Amino acid sequence: MVAAQNKSVAAKSTWLEYIATVRILVVEDEKKTAAFLAKGLREARFRAHSAGDGVAGLTAARTGEFDLLIVDIMLPKMDGWTLVRELRDAGVNTPVIFLTARDSVRDRVKGLELGADDYVVKPFAFSELLARVRSLLRRTPAKSDEIRIQDLEIDTRHHRATRHGVPLNLTPKEFLLLTHLARAGGEVVSRKEIAEHVWDINFNTDTNVVDVVVRRLRAKVDDPFKKKLVHTIRGVGYALKAH
Ligand code: CA
Repeated sequence: MVAAQNKSVAAKSTWLEYIATVRILVVEDEKKTAAFLAKGLREARFRAHSAGDGVAGLTAARTGEFDLLIVDIMLPKMDGWTLVRELRDAGVNTPVIFLTARDSVRDRVKGLELGADDYVVKPFAFSELLARVRSLLRRTPAKSDEIRIQDLEIDTRHHRATRHGVPLNLTPKEFLLLTHLARAGGEVVSRKEIAEHVWDINFNTDTNVVDVVVRRLRAKVDDPFKKKLVHTIRGVGYALKAH
């Protein structure tokens, strides 16, 4: 009984830790709706980002950094259907929930053929959207959750990282930083971008907060190991790569 209870508490805490790492992109041109969604998602502890038109949405979604997309169908510059089709063509399979005012069977079929995972018909209650977000995240296969760089393994879903099989005891900020660097595929990530991503706010880039966290990350990821993975590119930023 107690064991079962503990197990359920542990599962809940893992889920909450996971939620805090989930990045959701909202592509919606109606400012009020976009703000309402972003606020609600943040209150539910997700990390929410917004794009105001289809082209901006596609650009952001193509980075593959998001775990879930909420896409309005009627958008300026590029409609939601085109956005998702282009995204799938680019090999990005992030799950999508379409927001639509058009509740017709034909539209639903079209969306599903394009690889949308779910629909929410406007106007909707936020609780309904939230339930679908959670359900979609739970059933999304864990295929892209593992990132591997040499002997470094990052499990983004379970918030775990190991090097040479040794668990790295990272804080949530350190973990976010590591994941962000890893997803850049060896490219340099600027300090400003790190600040915005890891703290989710616009940052004065003079601050050395980024350097401090990088130093702490290095102490855990690199210092105990011969091969260094975190590289400083002077005056530019940081890169995570094998060479
Ligand atoms: Ca719209």
